[in-house]
Amino acid sequence: MNDEVATPSRLLAQISEIGRDPDRGGYTRPVFSRPERELTEWFVRQAEARDLSVEVDGNGIVWAWWDAPGGVRADAVGTGSHLDSVPGGGAYDGPLGVMSALSAVDHLRARGVQPVRPLVVMVFPEEEGSRFGLACLGSRLASGLADPVRVRRLKDADGMTYAEASRAVGVDPDLIGPDPAGVGRLREFVELHVEQGKGLADLDQPVAIGRSILGHGRWRIVIEGRGDHAGTTRMADRQDPMVVAGEVIGIVRRAVLDVDEARGTVGRIRAVPGGTNVIASRVEMWLDVRHFDDEQTRAIVKAISDAAAVSAERESCSFSITQESFSPTVHFDETLRHRIERVLPDAPVLDTGAGHDAGVLSTMLPSAMLYVRNMTGTSHSPLEHCADADADAGAVALADVLQDLVQKEAR
Ligand SMILES: [Zn+2]
Repeated sequence: MNDEVATPSRLLAQISEIGRDPDRGGYTRPVFSRPERELTEWFVRQAEARDLSVEVDGNGIVWAWWDAPGGVRADAVGTGSHLDSVPGGGAYDGPLGVMSALSAVDHLRARGVQPVRPLVVMVFPEEEGSRFGLACLGSRLASGLADPVRVRRLKDADGMTYAEASRAVGVDPDLIGPDPAGVGRLREFVELHVEQGKGLADLDQPVAIGRSILGHGRWRIVIEGRGDHAGTTRMADRQDPMVVAGEVIGIVRRAVLDVDEARGTVGRIRAVPGGTNVIASRVEMWLDVRHFDDEQTRAIVKAISDAAAVSAERESCSFSITQESFSPTVHFDETLRHRIERVLPDAPVLDTGAGHDAGVLSTMLPSAMLYVRNMTGTSHSPLEHCADADADAGAVALADVLQDLVQKEAR
């Protein structure tokens, strides 16, 4: 590799055909799928072309090391993001952070930077949780925030377990679990991510610094009634869980509107057996609730579940709700943030409602985030858009931050 700098947009162009979704538009790149494996292999080739030394740990996290003199892998500066996507996701959510990290390495090399501490570019698996329901799965496992026994049994929409799916692509599920020694090699972690809201769209700045991540959780709701014939079953005789599900969606909206700055979403629903002329016997639906005050989040979910239980009883259906995950509000390390503010004095400081691996890692070490402007303000959608010039500015900003960190001895 010479001193040429690959821009994020040039790197994104190289993966633009991988995992395209002709039905939904955008990209579908779930963990352990062919597209996601292809992307990971692509990343390894890019890392090796930059003389980074690649290792994959037991949790499937890829580490690409730029070693410091002496070669000791400790007190490292980590950066990176994820390559998996939601169904029908945009091109930037995840990959922009990975591409910017590679691009930042090029910038540092072109500047002649000699790291005093190792720099490691990381790719985290199943950040979206779109296949097994648990977001930031790789970083959660490594940080001890996800139980490996439970994770091995998690099922995807086709009933395939995590253990089966990972084994099918050659990842040993018996190796997952807490990795304090591995994560302990990091002194700081800085993740760059496309902004997923409109915070920057109205400001005349391409890059922002993260301050906090809204606490959020996911719950699985199951409503059971009685499956029957759509033509022969009298309306009065029905126990139709779809009717309850419809009411629950309205209940969620009302419960969330009652609380300032709260968010609540039902984005996924499944009727069993799912026939047009069949009254469903069971409905499964997933609830996502977010608020800065974790107590408030729990209170909202309690209000939803109380009202939903009443609605289920009216229809003679059963109702249950189980928490699949909960991430408290994250306040990024202030010392690290202030240091980044000195490197990027023009960058505004923003809060976000989207979860990230940097938020999970912040439970173990000082972490920070940079956001790059997304003019549509839309994410988890093919409409997500980051202008090439903004992506370039993001990579330069990340390089500036990393340069500041790797040139100084650890505190
Ligand atoms: Zn993301």
